[in-house]
Amino acid sequence: MPGLEDLYREIILDHYRSPRNRGELPVPPARHAEGHNPLCGDEITIYLSVDDDVVSDVKVAGQGCSISQSSASMMSAAVKGKTVPEVRSLVKKFKGMMSIDTGDDPPSIDVPLGDLEALQGVVKFPVRIKCATLAWNTLLEALDAPIPSDT
Ligand code: ZN
Repeated sequence: MPGLEDLYREIILDHYRSPRNRGELPVPPARHAEGHNPLCGDEITIYLSVDDDVVSDVKVAGQGCSISQSSASMMSAAVKGKTVPEVRSLVKKFKGMMSIDTGDDPPSIDVPLGDLEALQGVVKFPVRIKCATLAWNTLLEALDAPIPSDT
């Protein structure tokens, strides 16, 4: 399909130039996790607020290459407002698109990838797959992080 790669490149550049949901959330009540991709030097911190099993807010801090940062921006836009089971299914679907083995079980909920499909070209560059998945692995860590207490 002519022009599709250009469209994808535009989406990635747009998220890199104007990253969504940049910033931090106070911990607690938010939870957070840090991810690091030593191969490329990418660093990402994800802040999550989860209320009644819904990701009510997400913020992204850190720095790195255009793939890691635009993937983090797209991830933040995609997961905000979704339930935790939907988010877990989306992570699985995204990793599947990146040709990462996520086990035999398909995602329990079929969540559309939307703009995230712009990153599918990354799969042709195995060294960049870690850049694209860094935010997603960090997101899972943040989801599984213990809910911080004030003590
Ligand atoms: Zn990178």
